[in-house]
Amino acid sequence: MLAGVVHVEARRAAATARCPTCGRRSRRVHSRYRRRITDEPLGGRQIIIHLHVRRFFCAGRRCPRRTFAEQAPALASRYARRSVPLAGALQQIGLALGGRPGARLSASLHRPVSRTTLLRLVRTLPLREAPSPRVLGVDDWAFRKGHRYGTVLVDLEQHAVIELLPDRQATTLTRWLQEHPEIEVFSRDRAPAYAEAARKGAPQAIQVADRWHLMKNLVEALERCLLRHKQALRAAAAGSEPAPGPVPSYADAASVPWQQRAETASLQKHARRVEHYEQVHALHRVGVAKLEIAQTLGISRRSVYRYLGLVSPPERRRPRASRPRLLQPYEPYLLQRWQQGCHNRSRLFREIRAQGYRYGASNVFRFLKRVEREHGRTILAAPPTGTTPSARHVAFLLVQRADELSAENRDYLGRLCTAEPTIAAAAELAQAFTTMVRERQGHRFETWQAQASASGITELRGFARGLAEDQAAVEAGLSLAWGNGQTEGQVNKLKLLKRQMYGRANFEFLRRRLLLTG
Ligand SMILES: [Zn+2]
Repeated sequence: MLAGVVHVEARRAAATARCPTCGRRSRRVHSRYRRRITDEPLGGRQIIIHLHVRRFFCAGRRCPRRTFAEQAPALASRYARRSVPLAGALQQIGLALGGRPGARLSASLHRPVSRTTLLRLVRTLPLREAPSPRVLGVDDWAFRKGHRYGTVLVDLEQHAVIELLPDRQATTLTRWLQEHPEIEVFSRDRAPAYAEAARKGAPQAIQVADRWHLMKNLVEALERCLLRHKQALRAAAAGSEPAPGPVPSYADAASVPWQQRAETASLQKHARRVEHYEQVHALHRVGVAKLEIAQTLGISRRSVYRYLGLVSPPERRRPRASRPRLLQPYEPYLLQRWQQGCHNRSRLFREIRAQGYRYGASNVFRFLKRVEREHGRTILAAPPTGTTPSARHVAFLLVQRADELSAENRDYLGRLCTAEPTIAAAAELAQAFTTMVRERQGHRFETWQAQASASGITELRGFARGLAEDQAAVEAGLSLAWGNGQTEGQVNKLKLLKRQMYGRANFEFLRRRLLLTG
């Protein structure tokens, strides 16, 4: 609520002004008018400056300009209706909160502004020039799923997003690549558009097919193959004691491989904390009270103080500092296994290690102790016998390491492969491929490809043929250390930013937010 408005009349004291075109000073006044400029509020009152502006005749004889208006750049840029400090404050609020919530907060801070104006102000913020990357990761991300896609570029050495492109067309990326000839390694999925862009725009770079996407493509091929054998999936399930247990490492994030889930969760959490840090500081800079910051961002006042105490965005937590959090992604799995009747703590520890948990056993044991206290040792009824697992589910089972499978799943796959030789062959090829990916055995690729082609399994033959068309990149992907794991993390950050903007992401706005808030 505005407590009132203070009007200020202002004029420049100098008798002359310089022509912006020829630089010559003039004192001949042509006419006068007034500009209305809103300044930072004072004591809850809006300040409106009525700036008296003179229009001068240019004194330069050869100057094409006949008249010009004097400027007061320290107060307000040309044509602007807000003062430089006010525009700066609004830009910070908009950057931190996005359009609608930013506009809401601005209003309560005596700086009323519309959502669209706020977004426009953010879009005028200059971007800093990112240093050229040596190792580039490229991935697509959905503006609106199924409707509009963009491309996110990540410096894989600096772990930073360096650019966001408005589409995923080869020409757009090619243009960008041509302006960045320093790229030595180019990591991408096997989408033809990116491959083409890399060939044209970065012929000097080694192309690397991202392992994450290779695995994803393999699972998709297996799934298609299994869909042809639904009968067998059903029969193997009917013959089972309990139906195959869930594969928790995939169940709720079917497209994310096991090693990356913990990493992704950690990246997401970190992105949120960096986000909060930026927002708290931005709001504090423009004078928002700490309580109000806490309420606006939905965090505790203590957190606000903690963020204000930091001079740079919080680091990603090191394992030691955050062991309990690092266990978090595995907790649902552990609970589920416990309730299925597995009370062997060391075994559970080994199981989550196999899924990518890289830290000590004591957290796991502590967590299990809590589970036992809260849930006891009651065994929940197994899912009804005879439930047919989905083709996708079984496809994921086929790429798991045999020693990571639960006994039920191993039995299920055993029955399935005995009953259906095609699936047995597919399973063998899938395991060979997975080993190649895991152990970086690029040199084995050609042999594998020959086996897949000879297998007679249409889907895997198609998969192998696709890889062959991109052979150099696939072999590099199977051999080199670079992968797009962190690009996935960055795409997650993007999704987070997008969600905070209530789904109304405007490309240039989103791009600035992503690049300016690190
Ligand atoms: Zn002039």
